[in-house]
Amino acid sequence: MDEEEYLKLLEEAYKKLPQTKGSAERFEMPQIEIAYDGNKTIWKNFQKFAEVFRRDPEFMLRYFKRELGAPIVLDGPRAIIHKKLLPQFIQKKLESFFRLYVVCWECGKVDTHIINVGGHKELVCEACGATRVIR
Ligand SMILES: [Zn+2]
Repeated sequence: MDEEEYLKLLEEAYKKLPQTKGSAERFEMPQIEIAYDGNKTIWKNFQKFAEVFRRDPEFMLRYFKRELGAPIVLDGPRAIIHKKLLPQFIQKKLESFFRLYVVCWECGKVDTHIINVGGHKELVCEACGATRVIR
């Protein structure tokens, strides 16, 4: 299965989530703040997402480097992307990150953390105890 098919599968699984319970709907995704500096895209509030998602900024950075296809460096609260990108594109990748690595598919809550199990990682939900393997 290639990356695209995998993401499509995830997308479908996410759509089947129960919509009534869980805090996913109450969870307010902050707006990304973007500025440009020459050919660089400045993601002004990158760190904020690491905070609200409770994820390691380095872990997020690796994901976005891969997904945005550009070198990224952290600069305080900001991330400097060495490529000119549309905010909508970054927003879309951010939503994918959220579905993959933050929200629980069982209950839709965002009270989760990531653990290392043997050679892989698992997303553990603190609300309902569900786990799922991530990559
Ligand atoms: Zn859960």
